[in-house]
Order: sequence, then C-alpha cells, then structure tokens
Amino acid sequence: MSRRRRIYEGKAKVIYEGTEPGTLVQYFKDDSSHDASGDIATITGKGVLNNRISEHLMTRLAEIGVPTHLVRRLNMREQLIREVEIIPVQVVVRNIVAGSLAKRLGMEEGTALPRSIVEYYYKSDELGGPMISEEHITAFGWAMPQELDDMLSMALRVNDFLSGLFYGVGIRLVDFQLEFGRLWQGEELRIVLADEISPDSCRLWDLETDERLDRDRARLSMSEAAEAYQEVARRLGILPQSDVVDMHGRSHAS
Ligand code: UDP
Repeated sequence: MSRRRRIYEGKAKVIYEGTEPGTLVQYFKDDSSHDASGDIATITGKGVLNNRISEHLMTRLAEIGVPTHLVRRLNMREQLIREVEIIPVQVVVRNIVAGSLAKRLGMEEGTALPRSIVEYYYKSDELGGPMISEEHITAFGWAMPQELDDMLSMALRVNDFLSGLFYGVGIRLVDFQLEFGRLWQGEELRIVLADEISPDSCRLWDLETDERLDRDRARLSMSEAAEAYQEVARRLGILPQSDVVDMHGRSHAS
C-alpha cells in the first residue's frame, strides 16, 4: 500500500494529500481535549463522532446555500475536503456568556446576550490566539474587507441556522468557532467554511438542565465526555438510539 503524504498534524486532526488534485483528506483523531488536570486526554471514539457530526452540520449548511470545503465523508474517521487557503482568523459567535468572555469581563456564565456577539482571534498557537479587531485583519492583510464582510455574514447565517437546528433537538448553542478558507472556482475566488463544526468547536448545553454536551465536559471526566458527544450525535439523528461507538470507532447496536 502506498503511503499518503501527511501535510499537517494538529491536536485533533491530521491532513493528508487527497486522492484528486485540489483535494485533501481530513482525518479526525481521538485525542486533544484537556482534562481536569489540564493534560491532553483521550476521549475514545471522539474522532469518529466529530467526523459524523461535522459532516452532518456542513451538509445541512450547504443545503441552505452556505459554501463549505466538504466534498464527502470517506469513512469513519476521514472526509475528503477541498484544498483551501486558510484565512488565519478564528471567528467566534456568542449567544450566551461563557468561557473566556465570562472570565475577561467578569460576567456570569449562562447570561443570555442582548444580541449575538462576533469576535475575531488571530490563528497563532505561538501567540496563544490573541483577540483582534476588524482593523487588525484588514490592516495586516489577513483578509480583504470584502472577504471579512463575507465571513461575518456567513458566521451570522450559520449561527441562526445552527441555533434553530440545535434548539429543535433540545440543545442551546451557547457559542462556537468557525474557520474560513479561500477557494478558486474557475476565475472566481470564494470564501468557504472550513475546518470542522463539532462539540470540540461549539458550546452545547442541554436546553432544560444546562448540562454540558461539549468539550467543557472533558474537564470533568473522559467517560462523561464520550457520553456527551454520543448524546449530541444521537439527538441529531446520526446514531441510531441504541448504537454505541466502540474503541475502534466501530458502531454496533448495544
Ligand atoms: N473555540 C475553539 N477553538 C479554540 C478556542 C475556542 O473551538 O481554539 C471555541 C470554544 O469551543 C467555544 C468558543 O470557541 O465554543 C468560544 O471559546 P472561548 O473564547 O470562550 O474560549 P475557551 O473558554 O473555550 O478557551
């Protein structure tokens, strides 16, 4: 078997060269979440669930006209994506106070925001992903003003759509992070949604109990976190009610 060329490896994903020109393979790993001690810990089956959840959400978004990098899911842990030029800006949309917003401004977690708030962070692990403004993005050429406009309007559209989609299955979309890329289509350069949308990049709280169904849960215990990711998949109708995902990502009826 010929070995694929590994292009990039991050905490949660590996990117390999794709099968056709202009494509890449995105492989979802299990590790990467921080546990209670701050160490990187493994949630078994997480990669399999994130692959399925991200595929599901990106497909639904494409159906309403939001362009994404996803071509198709290939198998339990991999998806074929279009090769895009990643814009080095992480866009965070918030509906409810949580995480760094609560800490930074001393606000109470769980407070509903009077309107959705969009924040930008510079994509640099070295610098710890500092918060930036639109001015930095255009002044330093990380995105053109028109591209930034597209990113903002897409992020708000994604927020409206996903808030409704999750609300319908009893989940509050508290906040989430998006990444965008540039894609050449013929002569035209388009901004498309990239990376992933999963419980690793969203805060998801149960509508009735406020129970955490996202990576914040990993800070408590690994088995609880695995259950939460499965619960999100089950509610989205991706896993049949009785399915469990085993250590190797195989899905079988319990
Ligand atoms: N987020 C992410 N990757 C990051 C930082 C944040 O996916 O590197 C997501 C996070 O899961 C949450 C939202 O962006 O849904 C806002 O995160 P926040 O700024 O509150 O930072 P955190 O408290 O997660 O460090």
